Amino acid sequence: MRIPEVITIINPPKSQITRMQKRITSRLLPVIVFLFVGGLLLLFGCSISGEIRTRDKALLVSPYHAFDNWYKGELHCHSDRYENGGAGTGGVIDPSVPNLSACRIVEKFRELGYDFVFVTDHEYFTPPPDIKGILTLGAEEVGTYDSGYYSHGNAFDIHETIKGDRVYIPDGPGYSENVIPQAYSEEEKAAVWKDVFSRKRQYALDACNRQGGFMQINHPAYYGIDPNFLNSLNGLWGIEIVNFSYIPRGKGFAIDLWDSQLSQGKRLWGTIGSDAHSPDKAGHTYVLVNSPDLQRNNIINNLRNGNFISCYQFGSELAPRVRIAVRNNKISLEITNHYQNEVPAITWYKQGMTALKTEKAYNSTLILQGTETFVIAEISVFEGDKKNEARTYTQPIFFSRIISTNP
Ligand SMILES: [Zn+2]
Ligand SMILES: [Zn+2]
Repeated sequence: MRIPEVITIINPPKSQITRMQKRITSRLLPVIVFLFVGGLLLLFGCSISGEIRTRDKALLVSPYHAFDNWYKGELHCHSDRYENGGAGTGGVIDPSVPNLSACRIVEKFRELGYDFVFVTDHEYFTPPPDIKGILTLGAEEVGTYDSGYYSHGNAFDIHETIKGDRVYIPDGPGYSENVIPQAYSEEEKAAVWKDVFSRKRQYALDACNRQGGFMQINHPAYYGIDPNFLNSLNGLWGIEIVNFSYIPRGKGFAIDLWDSQLSQGKRLWGTIGSDAHSPDKAGHTYVLVNSPDLQRNNIINNLRNGNFISCYQFGSELAPRVRIAVRNNKISLEITNHYQNEVPAITWYKQGMTALKTEKAYNSTLILQGTETFVIAEISVFEGDKKNEARTYTQPIFFSRIISTNP
């Protein structure tokens, strides 16, 4: 198979891709007309002399920059300020927790050496306070209801609450999920439910994006999110491919769902989160964001642009720091921290989660064959036994083939 000539773009703005595609297309137009006329001539029994050689072009789009630093962060956890220790009373501000700086989950992540944390309380935007020793970023987990099933999604980098599916009635019996006071008349009940059911996922997504934020779908396996439903959403940023809290219930993984979206041409980043509702659940998951420093805007922008890797571990921290470089049709991955006991396994996948190559090594190079629409790498380490498993997923590097012709 002919290897296409590859144009590599790192973190391209959308306009740049469109411009490049337009440029290639505009060059193609006379050729297409020429081929069409040539085809007609052949059809009518005439022959044309000369040969047209075709040559392929492709765009390779990688989210990876090569900054020296990686910053460890959690994208999904709940505070005891709003969640009361995760007891399901979200929305009631616990007066014993004066503000987020005194909140146990933030303290726990700081103790575990995390550099930043998004606190994603249900249906409430948690404003980021200035806390010494850890960068806290504002977010909200927004629940919605779409004809038959619920979905949850984290809205990052927003600045005010997006109303979700939980009904908060100040003079009612207190906050509870979808509970309406019995004292309400049928009309009042109907009005509340109408309000709740208008909060569909696309509504929440648009509200998030209007605020300049970005949204992921959380624990999709737990809610049985359908690939077609996900595909129907516009403007989604990411999907939580591993939710650590749901692993024991057999609903923690959504890698196939991620693949189904990527294989259909959607560009979604894959994240991993603990969904810790109490401090003892913190510490098994993180993203590592590649950034020049820990400035809020740099963390946000590199996360938004996919310049990060997603990791989980059952035991001690084994997740790697990596360097990913793209050159022509080669993608190379180098693990920059070494392990004492086990050599990690690096597996490359393309669409359909088809494994292209696995090797036990500290670095691996993949040569694109031209059949890939995207590739991701998975790095797995087992130290001692399966209990100490750790896995890391890179973000997809997209590869689009554009047929071109050169005389
Ligand atoms: Zn949730
Ligand atoms: Zn959650």
